[in-house]
Amino acid sequence: MGGVNAAPDYRGRLKGVGLKIEAKKLDALLVTDIKNIRYLSGFTGSSAYILFSKGKRWFLTDPRYATQAGEEVKGFNIKIYKKALEAITGLIAGLKAKSIGFESDNISFDTYRKIKKALPKARLKPAPGIIADLRKRKDPFEVRLIRASVAILDSGFEKALRILKPGVIERDAALEIEFSFKERGAEGLAFDSIIASGFRGALPHGKASAKKIKKGEFVVVDMGALKDGYNSDETRTFSIGRPSSEQRKVYQIVKDAQAKAIEAVRPGVKASEVDGAARGYIRKAGYGKFFGHGTGHVVGLDIHEPPSIGPLSKDALDEGMVITIEPGIYLPGSFGVRIEDTALVTKDGCEVLTRTSKELVSL
Ligand code: ZN
Ligand code: ZN
Repeated sequence: MGGVNAAPDYRGRLKGVGLKIEAKKLDALLVTDIKNIRYLSGFTGSSAYILFSKGKRWFLTDPRYATQAGEEVKGFNIKIYKKALEAITGLIAGLKAKSIGFESDNISFDTYRKIKKALPKARLKPAPGIIADLRKRKDPFEVRLIRASVAILDSGFEKALRILKPGVIERDAALEIEFSFKERGAEGLAFDSIIASGFRGALPHGKASAKKIKKGEFVVVDMGALKDGYNSDETRTFSIGRPSSEQRKVYQIVKDAQAKAIEAVRPGVKASEVDGAARGYIRKAGYGKFFGHGTGHVVGLDIHEPPSIGPLSKDALDEGMVITIEPGIYLPGSFGVRIEDTALVTKDGCEVLTRTSKELVSL
C-alpha cells in the first residue's frame, strides 16, 4: 500500500527524542524499555538497548537477534554483545558522556547500581517518560494498526454471541474466542481474557475460570487482541436468557454513563473531566460506590499507557490519542456490568473504533 501511512515515521520519532535530550541537557540517553525500543527502531525482538549520544545512535542486542536486527533496524549503529551491561557501559565510557539519562521507570535497582559502579564519573540522571510522552499521540500509521487490531477484536465478540450460552464454561468460551483472534492474524492477546459470569461479574478483573455460565446471569467479557504490536481493548456484558429488571436498569445506567464520557472527549479536555462525566452519571443514579476503577486508559504498543483517565488524573487528552472508555457497576455477590470501547481522539471529538453493538443482548 502506498501513501503517507505506509510506514512508521521513525525519522520523526527520533527527531522527537533528540529534541527532548537537548531540552533536558543530557549528553546521552539509554533506552531500556523494549516497547520504546520497538517504537524507535522497529525491532520486534525481546532483548535490546538503544543509546543516543551527541547526534549518534546505537542499537545493542545479543547474538540471537543479529540477523533480525540487521533486517528490522535502520539508521542505527548495530552492536552485538555477549554481556549487555559491559557493552553499554563500555560504549558510554568511550563517549566520555557526563550526564546520562536513563529510563528510571523501567530499569531495575540492581542494573542501576551496576551501571553506576562501572561508570563512577558519570552522572546518571533519571529521565522517565521521555518516549512515553512521544507515544501518547499516535501517528496515522499507528492508528491504522490499532484499527486492524480492533477489527479482529470485534469479530471475536461476534463469535462470543454464538458461543455464550447456559452450560458453557468461561474458560472454554475464552479459548474459542482467542482462537478466532489468531485465525484472523492476531499474534496474541493484549491481556488475560476476562469472562466473568453471574456473581463473578462483580470482580472487575475476573479472569475466565472453570465456572459454568448459567441462565439468568450477566456475563462480562473483556478481551484484547495484539496485532502487529498494537493492542485493542473491548468489554461487553451479555445477558444469558431474559434479564431481570434490576439487571436491565444497571445495564442502561452503564450504557448511558459510557455515552456521556464519549461525548466529553475532545482535544484539550482534562482526563478527569471525561472520567467525571461517567462517574457523575453513575453517582446520580445511586450506584457511585459500585464503580471503583478509572474510566479508561491510553492504548498502543502497551495495553495501559499514560495518561490514565480517572478522577485523579492531571493530564489532558490530545488529538491522536487512542483511549478506552469503560465505566462499570459491580454489585458484590450479585452481578456486574462494564461496557468498553477503544476510541480515537479526533480534531473535534472522538471516533469510536469499536463496532460491536452496545444494545443489551439476551443469549
Ligand atoms: Zn478491557
Ligand atoms: Zn481497558
